[in-house]
Amino acid sequence: MAENQPKRTLFFHGERMTWISPVSLDELLDLKAAHPKAPLVVGNTGVGPEMKFRGVFHPVVIAPARIPDLNVVKYTEDGLTLGAACSLSVAKDVLTNAISEFPEEKTKVFCAVLKQLRTLGGEQIRNVASLGGNIISRKSTSDLNPVLAASNCVLSLASRGKKRRIPLSDIFAGVGNNTITPEEILVSVHIPHSRKGEYVCAFRQAPRRENALSITNAGMRVLFEEGTDIIKDLSIFYGGAASTTVCAKQTCSALTGRHWNEQTLDEACRLILKEIAVPGSASGEKVDYKKTLIISFFYRFFLEVLQSLKTTDPYHYPGIPVEYGSVLQDFKTKMPQKPDQSPQDPVGRPIMHQSGIKHATGEAVYIDDLPSVDGELFLAVVTSSRAHAKIVSIDTSEALKVPGVFDVISAHDVPATNEFYYSDDPEIVICVGQIVCAVVADSDVHAKQAAAKVKIEYEVLEPVILTIEEAIKHNSFFEPKRKLEQGNVDQAFETVDNIIEGEIHIGGQEHFYMETQSVLAVPKGEDKEMDVYVSTQHPAVIQEMVAASLGVPANRIMCHVKRVGGAFGGKLLKSGLLASVAAVAAKKTGRAVRFILSRGDDMLITGGRHPFIGKYKVGFMNDGRIRAVDVNYYINGGCTPDESVLVAAVSLLKMDNAYKIPNLRCWAYACKTNLPSNTAFRGFGFPQSALVTETWITEVADKTGLSPEKIREINMYKENEQTHFKQKLDPQNLIRCWNECMEKSAYYSRKKAANEFNKQNYWKKKGIAIVPLKFPFGLGTRYLSQASALVHIYTDGSVLLTHGGIEMGQGIHTKMIQVASRELNIPMSSIHFCETSTTTVPNACASAGSAGTDVNGMAVKDACQTLLKRLQPIINKNPKGTWNEWIKEAFEQSVSLSATGYFRGYNENMDWEKGEGQPFTYFLFGAACSEVEINCLTGDHKNLRTDIVMDIGCSINPAVDIGQIEGAFVQGIGLYTMEELKYSPEGVLYTRGPDQYKIPAVCDIPEQFSVSLLSSSQNPHAIYASKGIGEAGLFLGCSVFFALRDAVTSVRNERGLKTTFVLNSPLTAEQIRASCADDFTEMVTESWGGVCSSVSG
Ligand SMILES: Cc1cc2nc3c(=O)[nH]c(=O)nc-3n(C[C@H](O)[C@H](O)[C@H](O)COP(=O)(O)OP(=O)(O)OC[C@H]3O[C@@H](n4cnc5c(N)ncnc54)[C@H](O)[C@@H]3O)c2cc1C
Repeated sequence: MAENQPKRTLFFHGERMTWISPVSLDELLDLKAAHPKAPLVVGNTGVGPEMKFRGVFHPVVIAPARIPDLNVVKYTEDGLTLGAACSLSVAKDVLTNAISEFPEEKTKVFCAVLKQLRTLGGEQIRNVASLGGNIISRKSTSDLNPVLAASNCVLSLASRGKKRRIPLSDIFAGVGNNTITPEEILVSVHIPHSRKGEYVCAFRQAPRRENALSITNAGMRVLFEEGTDIIKDLSIFYGGAASTTVCAKQTCSALTGRHWNEQTLDEACRLILKEIAVPGSASGEKVDYKKTLIISFFYRFFLEVLQSLKTTDPYHYPGIPVEYGSVLQDFKTKMPQKPDQSPQDPVGRPIMHQSGIKHATGEAVYIDDLPSVDGELFLAVVTSSRAHAKIVSIDTSEALKVPGVFDVISAHDVPATNEFYYSDDPEIVICVGQIVCAVVADSDVHAKQAAAKVKIEYEVLEPVILTIEEAIKHNSFFEPKRKLEQGNVDQAFETVDNIIEGEIHIGGQEHFYMETQSVLAVPKGEDKEMDVYVSTQHPAVIQEMVAASLGVPANRIMCHVKRVGGAFGGKLLKSGLLASVAAVAAKKTGRAVRFILSRGDDMLITGGRHPFIGKYKVGFMNDGRIRAVDVNYYINGGCTPDESVLVAAVSLLKMDNAYKIPNLRCWAYACKTNLPSNTAFRGFGFPQSALVTETWITEVADKTGLSPEKIREINMYKENEQTHFKQKLDPQNLIRCWNECMEKSAYYSRKKAANEFNKQNYWKKKGIAIVPLKFPFGLGTRYLSQASALVHIYTDGSVLLTHGGIEMGQGIHTKMIQVASRELNIPMSSIHFCETSTTTVPNACASAGSAGTDVNGMAVKDACQTLLKRLQPIINKNPKGTWNEWIKEAFEQSVSLSATGYFRGYNENMDWEKGEGQPFTYFLFGAACSEVEINCLTGDHKNLRTDIVMDIGCSINPAVDIGQIEGAFVQGIGLYTMEELKYSPEGVLYTRGPDQYKIPAVCDIPEQFSVSLLSSSQNPHAIYASKGIGEAGLFLGCSVFFALRDAVTSVRNERGLKTTFVLNSPLTAEQIRASCADDFTEMVTESWGGVCSSVSG
């Protein structure tokens, strides 16, 4: 019935805006004439982010998606017409169809457009984003405009009483009447057939292959005089170079009439570089990289056309050298194709995460999913926009006028300890993003609108220290500095054959948990009690900090954590600070306060992994034996101590990775700067210091002429040894992992194959690397690893299990239920876990440092064993009875059916004065071999294959553990190859969302990815001989870093470039391109002489 109703214009009136959805073109044109400034919203992927993130406001919005003229798909004599409201997915499907139906000669434009559509955005974006929206928003990064313009596509525009058709190229090439007026709308786009002798290509390079805006893109078309290679018509358009799509018009006309040969290529590159100005951008990629891409794209077009000419006349056009052929293939993302233990005992089995289905369906409840509490308020924070300044005044008058605003909360409202302050003086701000005050209102929107209206006046203070280098210059460090030393370093340097010195810079990393920091504080109305629902790894510290800020005993604050949507170390102390803000607001207003950080604010305020500099001096023998190492690590701690000194210390303790270094001196410094305070992050300093180690290992290989894997083997721990802080170490499983990984990855034969590939391919190179791992497990001191559990058995036989660990996606509750199931000998389905809470398990230690399962597992086991001991007489009396019968009997005999369990923690210690101790309980081992392929022209790369072998003892749940290894590894790929934090010179973080900050996507997961667990490994120290696995795998992501280095090395060797070169982390496409130096890079940076002949073959 609903379908048969006549369609009519719909109006939706909101508080501030009106949304109109017309049904005919005439109506639309009338509306547009009446509201020329109103945007047409189809997919809302352009307008939406502008309104949300850039404060753009539209009182009227017109939604034209229901108008048939804008959804047309029409094949014509000379091409294809697509309505402007067609989604990009529809356009993709239509083009795919057309390509299969029309002769190849006619579909070259279709193919080029389709190529861009495959990687434009992601599937979700393409399903809603419209063709018209992409063209009309005319963003410089549009992937479609350059190729559509180069291909002579024509736009059909309409306004009231007027229709016209203009080639898209006219708009960007500045030809004729080329402006689209505000009253005009785009009705459709005509994409022409290609003609005989016409070739069309499109290119893009982005920080990540999918779901990332291009750094630079291009569309190019050439038409030859019939039967020749003489250029009749040439079009070249670029995106990403300037503020809009630009045309290399002069270059094209200068080259018309020329033959398609190396002289033309040479001339084209010179002319393009001259014509296409690439202005510097404060936040963007380097200008040189864009310029290199611009000519590299043209070169790729040149090769592609040369190769196509060969198919028309192989006698006259021999095509390109075979070794150049592979660069014409783009990287594609292939989706993967499709003992005597009791059968009931779930331990050691790949049990699915208990909430896995709920995570996938969206049923899992996170903080912001909690139902609203009567009268609840929403909180938005106001943060400092200066890195170091005195607050002169805060004017809240405008903010208080915003409708729905309830109050402004400031430092003066804190009843007791002020956990808000980052420094001793409340009037001084010490980083951009420091919380200055907060607004509470009746909705999230009102709170944010009001927060934006708070005016703060600052008096800027000196110095502003942002980088490690500046901190060193100003001697700005957190104390104490840590040092470890063994052997006689200075003497050893005098006896070695060779010494290298160098440094590597490792960028920071954003936690990028799926659930941003979230709190709901609910005052209970009596006795100063408050429920705090919070996304944290450490409820006890939240309780402590909230109680301290409110000035109440901890027994009035009840913290509840059902689950956390990812944490990675970022939800320890930071969550306490944010929970205190919400609690103070709740206390002041007497209302429940919901405080959910937006992604942008979360990234701005909460800090992340420490940026790192490692400076090294390494002495070694010609046979590859490393005899002496002297290293200094500097980490950028940001503006408060947080855990930076500890991170620096751990980076020292773990720096040896898998190697025995007889003479070693290392220092770690935590730099105090004016960045938001950096904090714990999966791996806790190890991923950085061990990367420094692997870097100098690789450099020793370069210098000695031995392979990196030989240097690794020569220097690896071999037998029972001592670490550099005198802890005993049995490296047997390290060597087993290494050997198994070598074998499983078929390392040597694949290395040979990669070398062979590299000989046959000039512009594409493969690289392969294998890296060992020793990851010490421990928290350095006993009390940090104590744990408790509470287990209740109800009279119906069901069991409620509680422990102090936090579920943050890692599957701890699943494993704890497995433990209880084994101990009580009942099915997992009889056991339930409800929430972690300070009311059931007090004083629980943080779920951190890979220790959650180890320590809580022991406590759960203890509680279950206590219960079983109590039940044993009843079971003995009736051995054939059922669980339910025993429980009923126990209740009737007044046997307590509730028990706590406790684990005292591991006996760990470290004496920093002496530089020795037993800070760890055991070691995890592993090895990873990764193979990559790089495109030397763009710096793009593809992760081809990774094989990991891990020693994690006897896994309690291999499915969950392998998931942890895979997830950590991919997060490591992000750290080492793509995730880049960018700051303004004033210390403002630019990269504040998925738009600017790229974490790995599906396309970055190695096409072949295998994780195997080392067999028959036992660990006497942990529950059921397992090992804590949360963090270790992250470091193995660096096997991709070194595989990329290997590929770059082979490029450089082939081109006779000097062997020593520095690669920093993350090793982005930009760095890879710059390291694959060639005539194009030289052309951009230096001279103009003798450019292309040598590269065109
Ligand atoms: C996460 C993400 C990733 C992205 N990745 C890429 C990428 O890799 N490459 C790329 O090129 N783009 C990318 N984009 C941009 C995206 O393709 C465009 O935002 C989208 O095509 C715009 O279409 P829309 O229907 O959503 O536009 P809307 O947001 O609905 O509208 C955008 C603008 O277009 C105007 N408009 C829309 N239709 C018409 C019409 N018929 N006539 C006149 N004006 C009209 C509107 O007035 C408005 O100003 C990405 C966007 C997002 C959010």
